[in-house]
Amino acid sequence: MPTSASARKTARRGRPAPELIFGDLWAFDPAPETADPKLKPRYDLFIGGRFVAPAGGRYFDTINPANEQKLTEIALAGSVDVDAAYAAAQRAFTTTWGRMPGRERAKYLFRIARLLQDRAREFAVAETLDGGKPIKESRDFDVPMAAAHFFYHAGWADKLEYIAPGRGVAPLGVVGQVIPWNFPLLMLAWKIAPALALGNTVVLKPAETTSITCLKFAEILQDAGLPPGVVNFVTGAGEVGAAVMTHPTAAKVAFTGSTEVGKRILRSLAGTEKKLTLELGGKAANIVFDDAPLDQAVEGIVNGIFFNQGHVCCAGSRLLVHEPVAERVLAKLKNRLRVLRVGDPMDKNTDIGAINSKPQLDKIRSLVASGVKEGAEMYQPPCVLPSKGFYFRPTVFSGVSMSHRIAREEIFGPVLSILTFRTVDEAVEKANNTAYGLSAGVWTDKGSRILKLSTELKAGVVWANTYNKFDPASPFGGYKESGFGREGGRQGLLDYAKLV
Ligand code: NAP
Ligand code: MG
Repeated sequence: MPTSASARKTARRGRPAPELIFGDLWAFDPAPETADPKLKPRYDLFIGGRFVAPAGGRYFDTINPANEQKLTEIALAGSVDVDAAYAAAQRAFTTTWGRMPGRERAKYLFRIARLLQDRAREFAVAETLDGGKPIKESRDFDVPMAAAHFFYHAGWADKLEYIAPGRGVAPLGVVGQVIPWNFPLLMLAWKIAPALALGNTVVLKPAETTSITCLKFAEILQDAGLPPGVVNFVTGAGEVGAAVMTHPTAAKVAFTGSTEVGKRILRSLAGTEKKLTLELGGKAANIVFDDAPLDQAVEGIVNGIFFNQGHVCCAGSRLLVHEPVAERVLAKLKNRLRVLRVGDPMDKNTDIGAINSKPQLDKIRSLVASGVKEGAEMYQPPCVLPSKGFYFRPTVFSGVSMSHRIAREEIFGPVLSILTFRTVDEAVEKANNTAYGLSAGVWTDKGSRILKLSTELKAGVVWANTYNKFDPASPFGGYKESGFGREGGRQGLLDYAKLV
């Protein structure tokens, strides 16, 4: 009788062990998260501080991408509802929020942050069920980071004269905001916290597939006693987003999403007075030199692209590796991939959860097929995927050239393309040879090389010997087709301010 748990499991499944012995060491028993996400059977719009039924009376289902089961239903807003949300926001701006002293606004932001912390587990579970990301990420990253953004901006609300020394600072008015599905609660926090700290009021639309935590967040706003109309949520698909972006009441609009939709918004706002910020796609280079600590770099590469199934705008989706260490890095990466756990996002041991939706899974599949067709060499570890739900194996392509689609287009999935380089200049040239410019990573022992590359890489964020690190005090945003404007830090606040 085998003695260790993993050996017993192997014996139970009657599977020959040899090459899987290493993998089985990691075959923990399931450890599902059990907190109650407290979902309502139906969610209405949140307008003027109350949940209200949509004027058209229509609702749509939101599903769990891990098993394709319906979770709840969400109101479908129409243009009448968007008008009502803007009217409520305008009223709140002129009667309460826009005139309130910063020290009073700070108290609300602080209270929101504390209430979110109180309900952190419930929110993490709701986020994972609705979006498919592993519970350890929503629990350890999304929810704490969202709370951190409210704490950080609570601290600014009564010190706004320091964001632009020598100038007066005033709010803009009502701002319209549209966010994507990859970090639903966190993107909401990035958008709402600075807007409110400045004294603006908000109309926000979450993504169609991930509206739940936004509407649960509305309950927190009610519990915090936020004056009615300061924040309003309208739910639905792209047309609702377009109505929010182009509404005549909006003094400023902020969008996070794809470059394609961002360009459409830019065109639709041409000739208007609206202020605009766009946080769009990316195709980041993660550059590994031969003097880098390779094991640490491999962890950074894995975190850079497989974190959140690669549903990350700043994902390190192109690995540029120095030729002398290319083979070693690839071998180490394959070893690491073999022990990544793919599957039920609610299991605390899961590294890679579900792809957010069927259309996104189809997009990943088609780009991966193009990589194979164009001649790159594909590696996927041998893991068993759940039979129901949207899943994709972590995938690494080697032998990729700059002309391949997988080296140029944003895949937004757990797919890494590896290219090699010989000199520093070649690395910089390849890294910058993209339409995007959101982020980059550099792995090397030399501080001087890090400083040189951080100025030469055309990317809003350059991480050195780490990847995907965030802080509310650190501005985030892109160059080129990755958009313009910053979120976080003093710079992020300036994008919500009128300087007088
Ligand atoms: P998307 O299709 O552009 O959607 C983003 C949001 O815009 C969703 O709420 C969407 O609604 C809405 N929308 C769709 N069509 C619209 C229109 N014509 N006008 C106004 N809003 C519209 O992007 P996605 O596929 O959901 O998100 C992934 C993309 O976001 C990636 O490209 C990623 O790089 C980018 N992203 C960038 C950042 C950043 O900070 N730079 C951060 C996160 C994500 P529905 O979903 O309901 O249709
Ligand atoms: Mg969903």
